[in-house]
Amino acid sequence: MSSDTVSVIAIAGNPNSGKTTAFNRYTGARQHVGNYPGITVEKKGGTAHIDGKEVTLVDLPGTYSLTAYSMEEVVARRVLAEDRPGAVIDVINAGVLDRNLYLSVQMMEMGIPLVLTLNMMDEAEAEGLNINIKRLEELTGLKCFPAVARKGEGLDDSLRAALALAEETHGRTNPLEISYGTDLDNSLLDMTPIVENAKLLTDMYPSRWVALKFLEGDKEIIHRATMANKEASDKLIALTDKVTKHLKDTLNTYPEAVIADYRYGWISSLLRNGVLEIKDDVLERTATSDKVDAVLTHRFVGPLILIGILYLMYYITIEVGNIPLGWTQTFFDWLHDLAGDSIQSAALRSLVTDGVISGVGSVLGFVPLIIIMFFLISILEDSGYMARVAYMMDRIFRIFGLHGASIMPFIISGGIAGGCAVPGVMATRTLRSPRERLATILTVPFMMCGAKIPVFLLFTSIFFKQNQAFIMFSFTLLGWVAALLVARLLRSTLIRGQATPFVMELPPYRLPLLSGVLIHTWERAWQYIKKAGTVILGISILIWAAMTYPGLPESYHQNIDSQLALMAENTAGLPEDAHNLISTNLENSESSQALRMSYAGRLGTFIEPLTKGAGFNWQTNIALIGGVAAKEVVISTLGTAYSLGAVDPDDSSSLQQRIEADPSWTMANSMALLLFTLLYSPCFVTLVVIKQESGKWRWLFFSLFFNLTLALVVATIANQVLSA
Ligand code: GDP
Ligand code: MG
Repeated sequence: MSSDTVSVIAIAGNPNSGKTTAFNRYTGARQHVGNYPGITVEKKGGTAHIDGKEVTLVDLPGTYSLTAYSMEEVVARRVLAEDRPGAVIDVINAGVLDRNLYLSVQMMEMGIPLVLTLNMMDEAEAEGLNINIKRLEELTGLKCFPAVARKGEGLDDSLRAALALAEETHGRTNPLEISYGTDLDNSLLDMTPIVENAKLLTDMYPSRWVALKFLEGDKEIIHRATMANKEASDKLIALTDKVTKHLKDTLNTYPEAVIADYRYGWISSLLRNGVLEIKDDVLERTATSDKVDAVLTHRFVGPLILIGILYLMYYITIEVGNIPLGWTQTFFDWLHDLAGDSIQSAALRSLVTDGVISGVGSVLGFVPLIIIMFFLISILEDSGYMARVAYMMDRIFRIFGLHGASIMPFIISGGIAGGCAVPGVMATRTLRSPRERLATILTVPFMMCGAKIPVFLLFTSIFFKQNQAFIMFSFTLLGWVAALLVARLLRSTLIRGQATPFVMELPPYRLPLLSGVLIHTWERAWQYIKKAGTVILGISILIWAAMTYPGLPESYHQNIDSQLALMAENTAGLPEDAHNLISTNLENSESSQALRMSYAGRLGTFIEPLTKGAGFNWQTNIALIGGVAAKEVVISTLGTAYSLGAVDPDDSSSLQQRIEADPSWTMANSMALLLFTLLYSPCFVTLVVIKQESGKWRWLFFSLFFNLTLALVVATIANQVLSA
């Protein structure tokens, strides 16, 4: 916009915040000023002059929200969306910042360029409120000016800034995207592309905002969207109904309430992030949530409590979980025997016992532990504590060149344990800065995802029996450390650039509903079980085949047979026991030889020189290669390998017992294996999503090769140091 054309600037704000007073000051008009809300229902226009420019000002009706409940809200929203002022001066009553900012947040979500005028500073100061305006500017990214509209103070600065903003933005900026909790964020991820593809009201509103309005049940927007494109709107309504029912079942609440909670949470953490100095006596008067937060998110005590809770979570999972873990193992042993006895064909028997039961069974065996872990995590999530964890981590994240909004993706990926990097990578969409987003995408795969957990549970139960919970917990922390360090490295090399300020939203605490926690737990556990029964089953069978074929050449069998015959002749005088021992050894060397000569065995052997330093033999290598398909495959492959190479083909001892009995496993190389599993290449699906979300193949290959190299180096060092 050039300086000679007329700019339109709108004045918005809560009722009674001083909009009309400011408008009259600017325009010299004599609009009615009243000390009661709702006096301005129509929009009113006027002209102001500043620095030789003419500005058209629009005085909007006062509203607390933009949800289209009242006529004022509908008018205000229409003016903002359809008349498209170049920028908006948001007049705020500085004495009640939190309530007034609720409207500001909504305008920011609409992508409207804002200038904040903190009006009634005279009253705020008299009340002893200390507002850090610079901090407010930093956190919101908006220009903020203290003002006393009644005396005309601070108004010109606001208008100048608004004009500059209008010229710069032409009425639209990047919309603010705040998190609305896992459930709604996931729905928004599904809904936003539908809005985008159907171009549903996107000429006026940001696409995520339109989706949000569906979730809020905004009649006006839903009506207009349905007129524009019924099919797309119906899809959005169906998704809304789904998540509405889900929230009702799990949290006994509805989307609108959750959205409002998170908006207020965003504001309250903005204020407590150094904008408002909260005095002790004020703190005492605030709600229970804030009182609890004074302890749980305390600068020093908070992180200690967090570590305590995490440790307790692992402790309970492992202590309690070991009981049902014994049952599932007994069950799969029994199943193994049953199948071994009842299947006639040797190839089919091997497929079912070695491939399916030993493979998938070793993954499914951990279901009880996974359920307990998900149960505890669901309690943390549903109570609102998880948002506090994010809030505390925010301070640390900035040091490492990540954004506060990176935390949710990290937690979703398994930051507390038991997540998945696939939704984690997708959740980075809430990050506005492309650099911080990329750094987050590339580092979330280091988290302790649900698929890695069985590997850790298995090996810690063998080599770290005494302090299994502690080791599990330490590896989870190590995932964070690795992610943060790699992020720092990336942000100072490949993806350098400025950090953007951020506010984390804190919803109020809620007592979790038992039914809600159970539903969340079951959903996750079922996903785990389903994956074991589909993807993992498929890969297990493939890997079983790769470990079984092409089989040993006929000459080898003949060789063994002749050795057996020879032995029978030469040992005729020996007792039965010795006889059996020798023949078992020969057969054992036959089965492990067959495994080694299989396709998978050859590949594993081929890369053995690379992994020798880390203490991995060719069997482990096969398992790790399989793990790129899905991390659970590490366990299922070891299960199959040990079952195939077993001394006694009918032996049904568990994978745990077999590894325990195998002298090639030591504390050092199992530690190396765990480190490798934590750090190495993301699984196949995650790699694909990384390509999708970053838009470039190079980041897929980066994740694959950089993480592999990092993991190999760390594992090798660990093995060397620990075995020395
Ligand atoms: P509107 O509803 O936002 O248009 O608010 P008005 O402009 O009608 O103002 C509401 C009341 O606040 C009136 O009584 C004004 O005189 C008073 N007011 C406006 N600005 C200030 C200010 O900066 N300081 C104080 N103390 N009062 C103000
Ligand atoms: Mg007014």
